[in-house]
Amino acid sequence: MDLNGKHALITGGGTGIGLAIAKALAEAGAEVTITGRRKDVLDKVAGGRIHALTMDVADEASVVDGFASAVAERGPIAICVANAGIAEGKALHKMDMDFWRKVIGINLDGAYLTMREAMKSMTGLDYGRIIAVASIAGIKGLRGAPAYTASKHGMIGLIRGLSEDYMGSPITFNAICPGYVDTAIVSENTVSIAARAGISEEQALKMMVKTNRHQRLISPQEVANTALYLCSELSGSINGQTMEIAGGQM
Ligand code: NAP
Repeated sequence: MDLNGKHALITGGGTGIGLAIAKALAEAGAEVTITGRRKDVLDKVAGGRIHALTMDVADEASVVDGFASAVAERGPIAICVANAGIAEGKALHKMDMDFWRKVIGINLDGAYLTMREAMKSMTGLDYGRIIAVASIAGIKGLRGAPAYTASKHGMIGLIRGLSEDYMGSPITFNAICPGYVDTAIVSENTVSIAARAGISEEQALKMMVKTNRHQRLISPQEVANTALYLCSELSGSINGQTMEIAGGQM
Protein backbone atom coordinates (compact mmCIF):
# COMPACT_ATOMS: atom_id res chain seq x y z
CA MET A 1 0.00 0.00 0.00
CA ASP A 2 1.39 3.37 -0.97
CA LEU A 3 -0.09 6.46 0.69
CA ASN A 4 2.95 8.61 -0.08
CA GLY A 5 2.09 12.26 -0.59
CA LYS A 6 -1.33 11.91 1.05
CA HIS A 7 -2.28 14.00 4.08
CA ALA A 8 -4.40 12.15 6.65
CA LEU A 9 -6.04 13.76 9.68
CA ILE A 10 -7.19 11.57 12.56
CA THR A 11 -9.20 13.03 15.43
CA GLY A 12 -8.39 11.43 18.78
CA GLY A 13 -5.20 10.19 17.09
CA GLY A 14 -3.00 10.42 20.19
CA THR A 15 -4.32 7.28 21.92
CA GLY A 16 -5.93 3.86 21.43
CA ILE A 17 -7.62 3.14 18.10
CA GLY A 18 -6.76 6.55 16.60
CA LEU A 19 -3.06 6.12 17.36
CA ALA A 20 -3.01 2.60 15.87
CA ILE A 21 -4.59 4.02 12.69
CA ALA A 22 -2.12 6.94 12.66
CA LYS A 23 0.86 4.58 12.86
CA ALA A 24 -0.55 2.31 10.14
CA LEU A 25 -1.17 5.21 7.74
CA ALA A 26 2.24 6.76 8.48
CA GLU A 27 3.93 3.40 7.82
CA ALA A 28 2.14 3.33 4.47
CA GLY A 29 3.71 6.72 3.65
CA ALA A 30 1.01 9.25 4.58
CA GLU A 31 1.74 12.48 6.43
CA VAL A 32 -0.57 12.15 9.43
CA THR A 33 -2.00 14.95 11.57
CA ILE A 34 -3.24 13.64 14.90
CA THR A 35 -5.59 15.75 16.99
CA GLY A 36 -6.93 15.76 20.54
CA ARG A 37 -7.41 18.09 23.48
CA ARG A 38 -4.32 17.03 25.46
CA LYS A 39 -1.15 18.49 23.93
CA ASP A 40 1.18 16.43 26.14
CA VAL A 41 -0.44 13.17 25.01
CA LEU A 42 -0.11 14.14 21.34
CA ASP A 43 3.47 15.41 21.68
CA LYS A 44 4.55 12.13 23.29
CA VAL A 45 3.60 10.08 20.22
CA ALA A 46 4.34 12.61 17.45
CA GLY A 47 7.49 12.32 15.34
CA GLY A 48 8.49 11.31 11.81
CA ARG A 49 5.37 11.45 9.65
CA ILE A 50 3.04 11.93 12.65
CA HIS A 51 2.27 15.57 13.53
CA ALA A 52 0.45 16.81 16.65
CA LEU A 53 -2.37 19.38 16.56
CA THR A 54 -4.43 20.42 19.57
CA MET A 55 -8.11 20.58 18.63
CA ASP A 56 -11.41 20.07 20.48
CA VAL A 57 -13.95 18.44 18.14
CA ALA A 58 -16.86 19.76 20.20
CA ASP A 59 -15.76 23.36 19.63
CA GLU A 60 -16.59 24.66 16.13
CA ALA A 61 -13.96 27.42 16.12
CA SER A 62 -11.28 24.98 17.27
CA VAL A 63 -12.13 22.55 14.44
CA VAL A 64 -12.26 25.29 11.78
CA ASP A 65 -8.90 26.73 12.93
CA GLY A 66 -7.34 23.28 13.39
CA PHE A 67 -8.17 22.11 9.87
CA ALA A 68 -7.05 25.42 8.38
CA SER A 69 -3.64 25.15 10.06
CA ALA A 70 -3.21 21.45 9.16
CA VAL A 71 -4.03 22.20 5.50
CA ALA A 72 -1.66 25.20 5.50
CA GLU A 73 1.15 23.00 6.87
CA ARG A 74 0.69 19.79 4.92
CA GLY A 75 -1.80 20.37 2.12
CA PRO A 76 -5.36 19.22 1.46
CA ILE A 77 -6.81 16.43 3.58
CA ALA A 78 -7.06 13.26 1.45
CA ILE A 79 -7.95 10.96 4.36
CA CYS A 80 -10.03 11.99 7.35
CA VAL A 81 -10.77 9.64 10.24
CA ALA A 82 -13.45 10.93 12.63
CA ASN A 83 -12.41 8.84 15.61
CA ALA A 84 -12.54 11.15 18.66
CA GLY A 85 -15.17 10.05 21.11
CA ILE A 86 -16.21 9.33 24.64
CA ALA A 87 -18.05 6.25 25.84
CA GLU A 88 -19.87 7.16 29.01
CA GLY A 89 -22.96 5.14 29.87
CA LYS A 90 -25.91 6.43 31.90
CA ALA A 91 -29.50 5.18 32.11
CA LEU A 92 -32.22 7.54 30.84
CA HIS A 93 -33.51 8.48 34.28
CA LYS A 94 -29.98 9.34 35.44
CA MET A 95 -29.14 11.54 32.46
CA ASP A 96 -29.55 15.29 32.41
CA MET A 97 -29.31 17.69 29.49
CA ASP A 98 -25.63 18.43 30.20
CA PHE A 99 -24.72 14.75 29.97
CA TRP A 100 -26.74 14.28 26.76
CA ARG A 101 -25.15 17.38 25.18
CA LYS A 102 -21.66 16.26 26.20
CA VAL A 103 -21.96 12.84 24.53
CA ILE A 104 -23.74 14.11 21.40
CA GLY A 105 -21.49 17.20 21.29
CA ILE A 106 -18.26 15.21 21.14
CA ASN A 107 -19.34 12.07 19.30
CA LEU A 108 -21.85 13.38 16.77
CA ASP A 109 -21.43 17.17 16.49
CA GLY A 110 -17.67 16.46 16.53
CA ALA A 111 -17.96 14.00 13.62
CA TYR A 112 -20.11 16.47 11.65
CA LEU A 113 -17.64 19.35 12.16
CA THR A 114 -14.69 17.10 11.34
CA MET A 115 -16.21 15.82 8.09
CA ARG A 116 -17.49 19.27 7.10
CA GLU A 117 -14.06 20.87 7.49
CA ALA A 118 -12.29 17.91 5.83
CA MET A 119 -14.53 18.18 2.77
CA LYS A 120 -13.47 21.80 2.22
CA SER A 121 -10.00 20.71 1.07
CA MET A 122 -10.86 17.14 -0.04
CA THR A 123 -13.49 18.16 -2.61
CA GLY A 124 -11.82 18.33 -6.01
CA LEU A 125 -9.04 15.84 -5.21
CA ASP A 126 -8.90 12.69 -7.35
CA TYR A 127 -8.94 10.50 -4.23
CA GLY A 128 -10.58 10.91 -0.83
CA ARG A 129 -11.53 8.82 2.16
CA ILE A 130 -13.82 9.78 5.04
CA ILE A 131 -13.91 7.14 7.77
CA ALA A 132 -15.97 7.30 10.95
CA VAL A 133 -14.96 5.17 13.90
CA ALA A 134 -18.49 4.39 15.11
CA SER A 135 -19.23 1.24 17.12
CA ILE A 136 -21.45 -1.81 17.20
CA ALA A 137 -23.58 0.61 19.25
CA GLY A 138 -24.19 2.35 15.91
CA ILE A 139 -25.90 -0.81 14.66
CA LYS A 140 -27.69 -2.14 17.72
CA GLY A 141 -28.68 -0.74 21.08
CA LEU A 142 -26.07 -0.84 23.84
CA ARG A 143 -27.71 -1.49 27.18
CA GLY A 144 -27.17 1.27 29.74
CA ALA A 145 -25.83 3.74 27.18
CA PRO A 146 -28.72 5.35 25.23
CA ALA A 147 -26.87 8.62 24.55
CA TYR A 148 -23.76 6.81 23.28
CA THR A 149 -25.97 4.52 21.17
CA ALA A 150 -27.79 7.53 19.69
CA SER A 151 -24.50 9.31 18.93
CA LYS A 152 -23.05 6.29 17.13
CA HIS A 153 -26.28 5.63 15.16
CA GLY A 154 -26.08 9.32 14.19
CA MET A 155 -22.51 8.96 12.93
CA ILE A 156 -23.58 6.11 10.68
CA GLY A 157 -26.52 8.17 9.41
CA LEU A 158 -24.11 10.98 8.58
CA ILE A 159 -21.80 8.61 6.67
CA ARG A 160 -24.71 7.09 4.72
CA GLY A 161 -26.16 10.52 3.89
CA LEU A 162 -22.83 11.91 2.70
CA SER A 163 -22.09 8.82 0.62
CA GLU A 164 -25.34 9.52 -1.27
CA ASP A 165 -24.62 13.23 -1.67
CA TYR A 166 -21.13 12.67 -3.10
CA MET A 167 -22.01 9.55 -5.11
CA GLY A 168 -19.86 9.24 -8.24
CA SER A 169 -17.05 11.38 -6.83
CA PRO A 170 -13.68 9.75 -5.98
CA ILE A 171 -14.43 10.19 -2.26
CA THR A 172 -15.82 7.30 -0.21
CA PHE A 173 -17.57 7.48 3.16
CA ASN A 174 -17.56 4.46 5.46
CA ALA A 175 -17.99 3.61 9.13
CA ILE A 176 -15.97 1.14 11.14
CA CYS A 177 -18.00 -0.49 13.90
CA PRO A 178 -15.87 -2.24 16.48
CA GLY A 179 -17.04 -4.29 19.43
CA TYR A 180 -14.99 -3.90 22.61
CA VAL A 181 -11.40 -2.91 21.79
CA ASP A 182 -8.49 -3.10 24.20
CA THR A 183 -8.07 0.65 24.93
CA ALA A 184 -8.51 3.13 27.77
CA ILE A 185 -12.26 3.23 27.06
CA VAL A 186 -12.60 -0.43 28.03
CA SER A 187 -10.43 -0.05 31.16
CA GLU A 188 -12.50 2.98 32.23
CA ASN A 189 -15.79 1.16 31.45
CA THR A 190 -14.62 -1.84 33.45
CA VAL A 191 -14.29 0.37 36.52
CA SER A 192 -17.58 2.25 36.00
CA ILE A 193 -19.69 -0.83 35.14
CA ALA A 194 -18.31 -2.65 38.19
CA ALA A 195 -19.24 0.30 40.42
CA ARG A 196 -22.73 0.73 38.88
CA ALA A 197 -23.63 -2.98 38.87
CA GLY A 198 -21.97 -3.83 42.20
CA ILE A 199 -19.78 -6.53 40.61
CA SER A 200 -16.02 -7.04 40.44
CA GLU A 201 -13.93 -5.43 37.68
CA GLU A 202 -13.06 -8.93 36.47
CA GLN A 203 -16.76 -9.75 36.08
CA ALA A 204 -17.39 -6.42 34.35
CA LEU A 205 -14.59 -7.11 31.85
CA LYS A 206 -15.99 -10.62 31.23
CA MET A 207 -19.40 -9.09 30.45
CA MET A 208 -17.82 -6.85 27.80
CA VAL A 209 -15.69 -9.62 26.32
CA LYS A 210 -18.83 -11.81 25.99
CA THR A 211 -20.34 -9.15 23.70
CA ASN A 212 -17.61 -9.82 21.14
CA ARG A 213 -18.73 -12.89 19.24
CA HIS A 214 -15.27 -14.52 19.40
CA GLN A 215 -15.03 -13.95 23.16
CA ARG A 216 -11.95 -11.76 23.24
CA LEU A 217 -11.12 -8.08 23.12
CA ILE A 218 -10.31 -6.71 19.69
CA SER A 219 -6.86 -5.14 19.30
CA PRO A 220 -6.51 -1.52 18.11
CA GLN A 221 -4.31 -2.93 15.32
CA GLU A 222 -7.24 -4.99 14.00
CA VAL A 223 -9.26 -1.79 13.67
CA ALA A 224 -6.30 -0.03 12.04
CA ASN A 225 -6.01 -2.85 9.48
CA THR A 226 -9.60 -2.18 8.40
CA ALA A 227 -8.94 1.56 8.16
CA LEU A 228 -5.86 0.86 6.05
CA TYR A 229 -7.92 -1.30 3.69
CA LEU A 230 -10.56 1.44 3.42
CA CYS A 231 -7.77 3.89 2.48
CA SER A 232 -6.42 1.62 -0.25
CA GLU A 233 -7.38 1.59 -3.91
CA LEU A 234 -8.73 -1.95 -3.26
CA SER A 235 -11.77 -0.47 -1.53
CA GLY A 236 -12.74 2.15 -4.12
CA SER A 237 -16.23 0.66 -4.62
CA ILE A 238 -16.99 0.33 -0.91
CA ASN A 239 -19.07 3.37 -0.03
CA GLY A 240 -21.72 4.15 2.58
CA GLN A 241 -20.94 0.91 4.42
CA THR A 242 -20.58 -0.18 8.02
CA MET A 243 -17.68 -2.57 8.64
CA GLU A 244 -18.36 -4.58 11.79
CA ILE A 245 -15.30 -5.75 13.71
CA ALA A 246 -16.82 -7.81 16.45
CA GLY A 247 -15.63 -11.35 15.84
CA GLY A 248 -18.94 -12.34 14.21
CA GLN A 249 -22.32 -11.00 13.11
CA MET A 250 -24.09 -8.64 15.46
P1 NAP B 1 -9.46 6.52 23.76
O1 NAP B 1 -8.06 6.05 23.78
O2 NAP B 1 -10.07 7.08 24.99
O3 NAP B 1 -9.62 7.55 22.56
C1 NAP B 1 -10.50 8.61 22.51
C2 NAP B 1 -9.77 9.76 21.87
O4 NAP B 1 -10.70 10.81 21.58
C3 NAP B 1 -8.69 10.35 22.78
O5 NAP B 1 -7.49 10.47 22.05
C4 NAP B 1 -9.23 11.70 23.17
O6 NAP B 1 -8.18 12.66 23.31
C5 NAP B 1 -10.12 12.03 21.98
N1 NAP B 1 -11.20 12.95 22.34
C6 NAP B 1 -12.18 12.78 23.25
N2 NAP B 1 -12.94 13.88 23.34
C7 NAP B 1 -12.42 14.77 22.44
C8 NAP B 1 -12.75 16.09 22.06
N3 NAP B 1 -13.78 16.76 22.62
N4 NAP B 1 -12.01 16.70 21.11
C9 NAP B 1 -10.97 16.04 20.54
N5 NAP B 1 -10.61 14.81 20.86
C10 NAP B 1 -11.32 14.18 21.81
O7 NAP B 1 -10.43 5.30 23.32
P2 NAP B 1 -10.59 4.50 21.95
O8 NAP B 1 -11.16 3.20 22.33
O9 NAP B 1 -9.35 4.53 21.15
O10 NAP B 1 -11.75 5.34 21.24
C11 NAP B 1 -11.67 5.85 19.94
C12 NAP B 1 -13.04 5.77 19.28
O11 NAP B 1 -13.41 4.40 19.13
C13 NAP B 1 -14.17 6.45 20.06
O12 NAP B 1 -14.99 7.19 19.18
C14 NAP B 1 -14.95 5.27 20.61
O13 NAP B 1 -16.32 5.55 20.80
C15 NAP B 1 -14.74 4.24 19.52
N6 NAP B 1 -14.96 2.86 19.95
C16 NAP B 1 -14.21 2.34 20.96
C17 NAP B 1 -14.45 1.01 21.35
C18 NAP B 1 -13.68 0.37 22.47
O14 NAP B 1 -14.13 -0.67 22.96
N7 NAP B 1 -12.54 0.88 22.87
C19 NAP B 1 -15.45 0.27 20.71
C20 NAP B 1 -16.17 0.85 19.68
C21 NAP B 1 -15.92 2.17 19.30
P3 NAP B 1 -8.27 13.88 24.37
O15 NAP B 1 -8.94 13.34 25.60
O16 NAP B 1 -6.86 14.30 24.57
O17 NAP B 1 -9.08 14.94 23.70
